[in-house]
Amino acid sequence: MPALVIQTSFLGDTVLTTPLLATLAERGPVDVVVTPLGASLLRGNPSVRTLIIYDKRGRDAGLTGLRRLARHLRGAGYEAAYMAQGSLRSAVLARAARIARRVGFDTSAGRALYTERVPYRRNAHHAERLWRLAAGDAAPTPAPEVIRPRLYPAADDRAAVDALLRELPPGGPIVGVAPGSIWGTKRWPYIAGLVAALDEARFVVIGSAEDTPQAETIASTAPGRVLDATGRLSLLASAELIGRCAVLVANDSAPTHLASGVGTPTITIFGPTVPAFGFGPLAPGSESVGVEGLGCRPCHPHGPRECPLGHFDCMRTLEPSRVAERVRNLLSGPPVP
Ligand code: SF4
Repeated sequence: MPALVIQTSFLGDTVLTTPLLATLAERGPVDVVVTPLGASLLRGNPSVRTLIIYDKRGRDAGLTGLRRLARHLRGAGYEAAYMAQGSLRSAVLARAARIARRVGFDTSAGRALYTERVPYRRNAHHAERLWRLAAGDAAPTPAPEVIRPRLYPAADDRAAVDALLRELPPGGPIVGVAPGSIWGTKRWPYIAGLVAALDEARFVVIGSAEDTPQAETIASTAPGRVLDATGRLSLLASAELIGRCAVLVANDSAPTHLASGVGTPTITIFGPTVPAFGFGPLAPGSESVGVEGLGCRPCHPHGPRECPLGHFDCMRTLEPSRVAERVRNLLSGPPVP
């Protein structure tokens, strides 16, 4: 019987759900309820039979949309719903779809409507937490490869990146930088300084159109060595571009997880959050960087809108030279398998 996974959360969470999808696919067909943007990320994933788009903030908003989707799911005969996103809305959807077995975390908002509650392991990586929805809490610690996400850019994504990279003059290794984050205090402010410090490398700036002003500032610090790709690629093509980079430098945000999905060594910068929350980079050779010994850190599960103490030392004191040294180590080290 098919399984249903409900994942309508942030893009990073969608990427981190792919090990769960792979494990479930070993047992039978897997369908995924996902946002339109999330669907664009899971396109081509061989573990997924059908992507069922739930535009919860658009055409499927409100009770009408939820009821319509529940009716659609009702006839599919799912053996279980795996609640990778833990909202009450998702739980109501699974129950309204009359899926008898509903598996989710014991801390989720929708847990009262689950039939099986899996302990939310606070100290585990979130990819492992999600994987345990299928593997169970008693399963032994998984090998890193088991919980490493996978993304599958297609031929059109590769062609888009081929065309884009023709704009970058020949030169040294390509380092990707992703300056954005939807949480303002998670943005490390020194990407331009990093670019200036690493004059042996070429750079591509990865992000959405919202990151373009920042990308333009970064590009202006090293004309001819920086290609601004912000707002020019689909999500999977962005993953493909990250896959062409020797190293990615990113914040604690979605590009870190895109890099995990294509295996690019990543230096992830943590400010008000910490890797112990479970969202560090998973590609081999990756590192997490942050200011240690700062008493106020971490201060928020996602990063506050502004530093509540006003000094923003968790990011402000993380000098570009320190990150540049890590990048150089990765560029000069043995190739990562
Ligand atoms: S309170 Fe500390 S951890 Fe939080 S944003 Fe400010 S400096 Fe960073």
